[in-house]
Order: sequence, then structure tokens, then C-alpha cells
Amino acid sequence: MTEDEAKTKWCPFVRIVSVNHVLEAIRFMDEDNEINTACIASECMAWRFLPCDPDTDDVPHGYCGLAGKP
Ligand code: SF4
Repeated sequence: MTEDEAKTKWCPFVRIVSVNHVLEAIRFMDEDNEINTACIASECMAWRFLPCDPDTDDVPHGYCGLAGKP
């Protein structure tokens, strides 16, 4: 999938905790007090790009490396 598609999916590794236990969180509330639980694609060390065919692929595709190869 593309990075934009991935960013619409829940990351299964997100952990949400109350602000009273913020040291246990791996994601934090943004400036609008929203918790972003979506995949962050190539901003995550686990994101893997698929080989690209410049003749047919205009947008790079990839996958979560922690979820196994597609
Ligand atoms: S690539 Fe990273 S952010 Fe995206 S689903 Fe996998 S672990 Fe979560």
C-alpha cells in the first residue's frame, strides 16, 4: 500500500494510556487533544518499501515490516 493508505490504518503497536501514566505511552495527544493511532508509514523504523517499477509505479508502496511481508 502507499504511505497515504497506511496512514489511514490503525497501528497495532499503538498503546494508549491516560496522561497520568504518560511514561508508558508510545503516542501522545496532539495539539487538538486527539490521539493519533494511525500508522506513520516511513516515519516508523518498521516501514519497508517494496521494490519500485518506475514504468508502472508512480507512488512508492510499502508495508509494516512487523506484520510480515504482504
Ligand atoms: S510501520 Fe510502524 S507505525 Fe506503521 S503499523 Fe507498522 S509499527 Fe505501526
